[in-house]
Amino acid sequence: MSQNTKNEQLTDKRFSPSSMHDPITQAFLDQAEKYNLRYLCEDCVYFDDVEDDCVHRYPTAPHRKAYIEDKPLEKMLIFCREFDIS
Ligand code: SF4
Repeated sequence: MSQNTKNEQLTDKRFSPSSMHDPITQAFLDQAEKYNLRYLCEDCVYFDDVEDDCVHRYPTAPHRKAYIEDKPLEKMLIFCREFDIS
């Protein structure tokens, strides 16, 4: 997937603030680290490491480790409803 496509995903209105999307806070980041919270594509059983993409072809940009690690306090926390760690 091209970088342009990934950036378009992040401007998609589906990823706008809503009751399901909250700004990432330092408290969240601290607790995610403390409790080893898994919630990113890289932790999900549906993530294909070879293709570097979701096997369901869902948009991954807002759920990727790189997205969270780059200036996280300026971003929204968007959980994927298909995330599965099993
Ligand atoms: S199902 Fe969701 S969390 Fe899992 S790889 Fe696909 S987009 Fe990422």
